[in-house]
Amino acid sequence: CGIVGYVGKHQVTDAKDIIIDGLKKLEYRGYDSAGIALNTGDRLEIRKHVGRIENLEKLIKGETLNSHIGIGHTRWATHGAPSDLNAHPHCNADGSIAVVHNGIIENYVEIKEWLTKEYGVQFKSETDTEVIAHLIGIYYDGDLEDAVFKAVTKMRGAYAIGVVAAAEPDKIVAVRKDAPLIAGLGEGCNFIASDIPALLKHVREIYLIENNETVVVTADDVKIYNEARKQVKREVFHVTWDA
Ligand code: GLU
Repeated sequence: CGIVGYVGKHQVTDAKDIIIDGLKKLEYRGYDSAGIALNTGDRLEIRKHVGRIENLEKLIKGETLNSHIGIGHTRWATHGAPSDLNAHPHCNADGSIAVVHNGIIENYVEIKEWLTKEYGVQFKSETDTEVIAHLIGIYYDGDLEDAVFKAVTKMRGAYAIGVVAAAEPDKIVAVRKDAPLIAGLGEGCNFIASDIPALLKHVREIYLIENNETVVVTADDVKIYNEARKQVKREVFHVTWDA
């Protein structure tokens, strides 16, 4: 299972190909389905498919899906069978926020009940992950970073998550707790991933994200925050080996 995220500048790149290529480099981790969320301007386009990454590629073949930002996922199902519906990314009610997640949300039943009762949220999948998307959606008022910080305080378990919002096409917010997460530093573009091989084609400078840290990634900048929302400094890790 794995996560890859990419943010570049508007004109230059095709996020889709970069993300799918990165996911393939994480295949060694094992997975049962794959998916991608791309911001195509004013909306998020989600494509996901059970089975191999090739199935996802076939699904989007012929589609343009121009985007300079997106997140991708390979899933190893823990809650909910491997299926198109349970594959990530998962979205909030109006599809304006998309989440990919590795790990397990231990208190998802509790959160699900609360979201259903208090907000009338209707769930589309059987995953634990979907609660994250709805939580962020409920807290979101135009500031993704803030909404993710608030959502995380409700979540127990192990997770690496990557989040994008339709209204913020310049930013990925990612959080790590007991599941691997790195950020990759490119030229005019930056990345997140579960592991270094996903990014070696593009970058050799990495930030190793630590437990309970949040990373905010734009094309020009990668900022890391601790649990108290204080920005922290990180040494750049130079990768000297080849994949
Ligand atoms: N628990 C989540 C699910 O079953 C994420 C699994 C994973 O790490 O890929 O969908």
